[in-house]
Amino acid sequence: SAARIVVIGGGFGGASCARALRRIDAKLQVTLIEPNRTFTACPFSNEVIAGLREIEAQQFGYDRIGAEGVSMIAQGATKIDAQKRVVGFADGTSIGYDRLVLAPGIDARYDALPGYDEAAAKMPHAWKAGEQTLLLRKQIEAMDDGGLVVLAVPAAPLRCPPAPYERASLIAHYLKTKKPRSKVLILDAKDNFPQQRLFENAWKELYPGMIERISLSQGGRVTSVEPATNTMITDFGNYTAQVANVIPPQKAGRIAEIAGAADKTGWCPIDPVTFASKLVPDIHVIGDACIGGGIPKSASAANAQGKACADAVASLIAGKPPAIPKLVGACYNTVAPDYAFSLSGVYQPKDDMFAEVEGGGTSPVEAPREVRKREADEAQSWYKTITVDTFG
Ligand code: FAD
Repeated sequence: SAARIVVIGGGFGGASCARALRRIDAKLQVTLIEPNRTFTACPFSNEVIAGLREIEAQQFGYDRIGAEGVSMIAQGATKIDAQKRVVGFADGTSIGYDRLVLAPGIDARYDALPGYDEAAAKMPHAWKAGEQTLLLRKQIEAMDDGGLVVLAVPAAPLRCPPAPYERASLIAHYLKTKKPRSKVLILDAKDNFPQQRLFENAWKELYPGMIERISLSQGGRVTSVEPATNTMITDFGNYTAQVANVIPPQKAGRIAEIAGAADKTGWCPIDPVTFASKLVPDIHVIGDACIGGGIPKSASAANAQGKACADAVASLIAGKPPAIPKLVGACYNTVAPDYAFSLSGVYQPKDDMFAEVEGGGTSPVEAPREVRKREADEAQSWYKTITVDTFG
């Protein structure tokens, strides 16, 4: 009988994988488990926070994926028995599989940030797009001119390493237009970040005096929070904000831990050729949840991994050796509506991880504004392409 492949998580990784499996071999029985009937994408959600875009532009349904022959289960998976190869749900039902692909994205490590849990509503992270994206936007819109917006940024690894700085830029864009006496403060648990010089130059040029950043060595790491007073605590001092965007330390989505696929770091070690878990049999892990080594956690990477994993799983089922994947990732950072720059990379398995190989590149540090404008347009086309490729 036909091989049964179950994919958990209908985001950039899982949806891409499910579609690719059906396209590789229409005989495969592919099921996609995802509790939300509408997916809300993170890329470009910083524009929603800054009032430059509406949340509807972030939303995608699963109808086209269903029409391609992928069976959809609109529930969250709550249990995995890797020995019996069964996924269970809260209502007591279950589904068996021959191979399982986990693509659950991230969850917050609440234990790593004392004070932060239910508080999320007061100090939204908006690191999963949706309600919190809109909440953060409302808080910024409701803030008085002269208010302080603080972003707390966790140490690596995190989902989309440059996105906190993109967010700070776009919030500054909103404030400059609507509340020019306001400021943005970044409390950072890192010393360096991707495309740092490009960001810092853009801040000087577009938002002089509006964005301040305190790095790890300057005492920027937030060690706990007090939601009642909107205060973030570091080893060097306390910061009280009118709006606090606390991005907590992260780990693989909870179901990965339940499956036994996450190690003590909270992330999932894999064989980079097949994405097979190193901890549990017949389970593959893709997207933000896996330990990708040199490949940053991005929608672009998750989409590429989803397709490469589909190839590997189809080969393994057919008893053929899997091909060595070559993943291409691109990331655009938009700092104003007509000003963006980008980073691209090519990655291949090396020493049991993904390592960057030749072929990538970054926007130049010095460039005329037309170049930044062109990249802002390219960012829009990138979004269109990747969302059509993932959701149909
Ligand atoms: P997701 O896309 O989050 O999908 C995971 C899915 O799994 C979710 O739909 C969830 O509901 C589901 N799920 C979880 N648990 C279960 C369960 N138990 N049962 C069933 N389903 C479950 N990347 C870029 O490439 N470019 C960008 O410009 C960019 N900008 C970003 C901006 C921001 C502000 C943020 C936060 C991220 C950005 N990213 C960007 C990163 C990108 O969003 C993620 O890397 C990407 O979504 C990862 O894909 P994924 O499939 O691993 O997880």
